[in-house]
Amino acid sequence: MTYWIDTHCHLADDRYKNDFDSYIQKAKENDVAVINVICSSKEELLYMIEKQKQYPNLDISFGYYPQGVEKITQEDLDFLVFALDNYPQIKAIGEIGLDYYYTKEFAQKQKELFIKQIEIANRYNKPLIIHSRSAAKDTYDTLKQYAKTNVLMHCYSDSLEMMKEYQKLGYFISFTGVVTFKNANKVKTNAINVDLDKIMIETDSPYLTPAPFRGKENQPAYVRFVGEYISGLRDIEIEKLQLQLIDNYQRFMETCND
Ligand SMILES: [Zn+2]
Repeated sequence: MTYWIDTHCHLADDRYKNDFDSYIQKAKENDVAVINVICSSKEELLYMIEKQKQYPNLDISFGYYPQGVEKITQEDLDFLVFALDNYPQIKAIGEIGLDYYYTKEFAQKQKELFIKQIEIANRYNKPLIIHSRSAAKDTYDTLKQYAKTNVLMHCYSDSLEMMKEYQKLGYFISFTGVVTFKNANKVKTNAINVDLDKIMIETDSPYLTPAPFRGKENQPAYVRFVGEYISGLRDIEIEKLQLQLIDNYQRFMETCND
C-alpha cells in the first residue's frame, strides 16, 4: 500500500485549533496517512499528546527553535528531558538548529542551545530534525562534531555541494513546497540530485504552500503536491517514489538501541 507522509508541519499552531479535525480529514482524503507534528513549546507538546490519543497517525517531534533562543530557560531544557522520560510518543528532537537570517546577535546562544539539545538526543537515542538558515557552515560543523543519531535536514535550501557533504554523513534531506516555485532553481537542482535513499518531503505548514495553492494557507494534505512535483522532476513513478519516501522516513525514525 502506498501513501504520503508529511514529515514536518506545525499542526499544533493556534490557527489550526478551531478546525483541527477537518485538516486531518483533508489529509486522509489526499492519501496523507502519517503526519509528523513539530512542537516547539511545552504547550504545543501537551496539546499534541492529547490529540494523538484520537489520531494515532500523528507523530510527535519536540525541540526548541533557534529563533527565540533568548527566551529559552534552563527550566525549558529540564522540561525537554522530563518530556522524554514521560512521553515515549516523542519520536524525534526538532526542529532545532541555527538561524542567522535576521541577526547573528544570538549566534553563540543558539549554538549552545543547539549542542545541548543534540546531547539530549544522543542520550535518549532520538533522531534530529534540523533547521538551518544562513548558517550552513556552523550547522554542518556542529552536527559533525556532536550528532550521534539520525539527522534530517528540514526544508533544505543550501548549496548542492553542502548537500553532498551532508549525504556523506548519512543525513536525510527534505523538500517543501518551495521546490514547486517557478524561480527556485537551486532547490530544484538539489531535488534532482539528492540520493533517492535520502530524500524526504514535507509541507512545513502553515508556511511555504506549494503550487497550485501558493500564497494560501498550507496544510498537511498539500504534501502530495510536493511529492507529485518531484515525481515529475525526476521522472519516477508516483508509487515508486512513495515507497521510497515511506522507507526513508521509517529508517530515519528508527532508533539504534531498541
Ligand atoms: Zn518548521
